[in-house]
Amino acid sequence: MKIGFIGLGIMGKPMAKNLVKAGYELTVSDKFAAAAVEELVAMGAKSAKTNAEAAREADVLITMVPNSPQVKEALFGEDGAAETLKPGSIVLDCSSINPVASREICEELAKKGVEMMDAPVSGGEPKAIDATLAFMVGGKPEIFEKVKGILEKMGSSVVLCGDIGAGNVTKLCNQIVVAINIAGLAEAMTLGQQCGVAPEKIFEAIKGGLAGSTVMNAKAPMMMDQNFKPGFRINLHIKDLNNVVDAAAKYDSPIPLTQSVLEMMKILNRDGDAACDHSSLIKYYQKLTGEQLHH
Ligand code: NAD
Repeated sequence: MKIGFIGLGIMGKPMAKNLVKAGYELTVSDKFAAAAVEELVAMGAKSAKTNAEAAREADVLITMVPNSPQVKEALFGEDGAAETLKPGSIVLDCSSINPVASREICEELAKKGVEMMDAPVSGGEPKAIDATLAFMVGGKPEIFEKVKGILEKMGSSVVLCGDIGAGNVTKLCNQIVVAINIAGLAEAMTLGQQCGVAPEKIFEAIKGGLAGSTVMNAKAPMMMDQNFKPGFRINLHIKDLNNVVDAAAKYDSPIPLTQSVLEMMKILNRDGDAACDHSSLIKYYQKLTGEQLHH
């Protein structure tokens, strides 16, 4: 099976590497990340100058780009993949995008006889490297059966959540939980320190109890170290929460907690932290208290 892969950023590069290691024939393209393309070529992948070229021979085309406009550009823009995709081929969009856009893109591709599934991921760069991502998938069950094996080479959990768009709806749910968890952690650590207890001790004492979580284990040390190397960038999380706001408006769903954390992230974005990891939500509290979180 031949796979085209568009978008070799923080996530796409390790995911593509895992597919090459698994023995798939890959043709990769990225508009900007030339060094990542070279790394993949060194492992045995072919490079394509355009997205159209990456898609030409593909049975399955994977896209892993920032948001809906980039997915649409990669597929339908100049030298876009849709120009060359063959009927019967499958687009597997692993980007986290607006579910409404997933449905629109799927309809557009169907006109060319091309199938599509949305398959966003959770887990971040470390799990992309370890091939232990969690995939949330939307689309037809019979197409899911065809691509499941590919996803299992990049992740340890692959769940069909429903029809096209269901993967991205589930991803939005994931992003709400992660954002509010990080904000809650930042608020708690700040309170603890201001009340005179070392954040390190708070983390050590509560991580094994009900409050403990994967988010806490990953983000509390980053907050205490003031290490905000992404990981998952504030500007990408703002993108996801804006997609939550759009979806909530469309279905009249209440999102008071998401709105609060989105406001915090927007302040960080304004102050130059767009490219910091989302653990930098602690900086929002540091601005309010004038005090840095320490160990
Ligand atoms: P990234 O910005 O590091 O990588 C995106 C890549 O897409 C870049 O290399 C860029 O050059 C390329 N690109 C953009 N437009 C293109 C186009 N038209 N044609 C070809 N290449 C194009 O982003 P990332 O962190 O890898 O995230 C990718 C997606 O995965 C996003 O939707 C993000 O929300 C989601 N995601 C990220 C993480 C994470 O921890 N980073 C975790 C889960 C999900």
